[in-house]
Amino acid sequence: MTPQLTCIECEAQFAVTEILYNCTKCDGLLEARYGASGKSAADLKALWRNRRTSNAPLDNSGVWRYREMIPFLDDEAHAVTLREGNTPLLPARRAAEYGGLDRLEFKHQGFNPTGSFKDNGMTCGVAQAVRLGRPRVACVSTGNTSASMAAYASAAGIEPLIFIPNGNIAYGKLAQALEYGARTFQVDANFDQILALVRVLAEKIGIYLLNSINPFRIEGQKTIVIEMLDQRDWVAPDWIVLPGGNLGNTSAFGKALRELHALGFIEKMPRVAVVQAEGSAPFYDFIREGGEFRPIGHPETLATAIKIGDPVSWPKALRVIEDTRGVVEKVTEQEIADAKAVIGLCGIGCEPASAATLAGIKKLRAAGVMRADEDVVAVLTGHVLKDPDYIYKYHTGQLETPTGVKIAANFGNKPQVVPNDADTIARLIG
Ligand SMILES: *Cc1c(COP(=O)(O)O)cnc(C)c1O
Ligand SMILES: [Zn+2]
Repeated sequence: MTPQLTCIECEAQFAVTEILYNCTKCDGLLEARYGASGKSAADLKALWRNRRTSNAPLDNSGVWRYREMIPFLDDEAHAVTLREGNTPLLPARRAAEYGGLDRLEFKHQGFNPTGSFKDNGMTCGVAQAVRLGRPRVACVSTGNTSASMAAYASAAGIEPLIFIPNGNIAYGKLAQALEYGARTFQVDANFDQILALVRVLAEKIGIYLLNSINPFRIEGQKTIVIEMLDQRDWVAPDWIVLPGGNLGNTSAFGKALRELHALGFIEKMPRVAVVQAEGSAPFYDFIREGGEFRPIGHPETLATAIKIGDPVSWPKALRVIEDTRGVVEKVTEQEIADAKAVIGLCGIGCEPASAATLAGIKKLRAAGVMRADEDVVAVLTGHVLKDPDYIYKYHTGQLETPTGVKIAANFGNKPQVVPNDADTIARLIG
């Protein structure tokens, strides 16, 4: 079977080369589907391990190394790689103790070229744009998506366009987009209005959209799970824990697990735990209360990467929770901040959104959902330097929640002002 885009609601099928963002029949979300590769799981495991000794660019990529699992291109020359993926799996004793686990491993996506897991997806999204012959790509984002899209588009020689709401700018991340040559437009409108505007522009002047529902980005993000299992010699953990914003990554992890399980790579299905920030937890509410999915009008959290009120990929994420006996947890700003500092004390830095994982683990342990002896992998989604302001404020006791509540520096580490005097400093050091 040649690759198809399939609607997850009505199963309508479209050619993989059609430029579609939703099903034309029912507006449902689309996903890439493929026929059998003809190779056994054992053969592919050996092939992928072997590629680690190769110097070929695509074999060096922690995404394209696993290209048999993401075979949507018809010509490998369309792939553009910055050697994304290849992120470490780091054991963290102190974080495990804090979370109430015997052991815990972090799969750290902050080691990617632009510092977040968005690179795993963007290498595929931009490859599709190249394959379609689109001269420009665009997204509506001030966050990691814009940094990643800018880098991959420029690397591929196509033009990155970023649209952002006026006066709503995260400079830490936008700085990267500017550096990577993205043309950036601040529009006097809200996020949804800009999205509608960009869709009109896309038709008019041949822009390929790389927003979060892009099915090819999801394909690339599947390799986070594939690489993690490869690093564990295909021993599946009991749990995979990740933060949830737009829920694209949750969707990608579930799709990877479903496909790997069906193809015989793993026998056990890990359970997926999605963690949201309390002020931005529509998926948590939906799973807990059932009924209609209700977006949140004004999401709030300092973990800006998961500050999403209307997560577009929730229908896919719902299936992940069902298929993996998954759970959704929510955590407070204080819990995120403390968990982040504890991860830091392991010598591992991460973005606030990433630390929601450890905060969530602690809660799930306390509730008896997770057992201490279970084998847990948490995914750290972004690099520590994406948000240095947050870190300085936390450690100096100046961090406040979006509603102005002071966050206690429970693991604070404040610089000390000292006189220029060796004896005094020696006494202080002890
Ligand atoms: C995008 C992002 C998330 C949220 O991922 P979704 O796929 O939107 O759920 C979490 N953390 C970081 C650092 C991100 O960049
Ligand atoms: Zn449909």
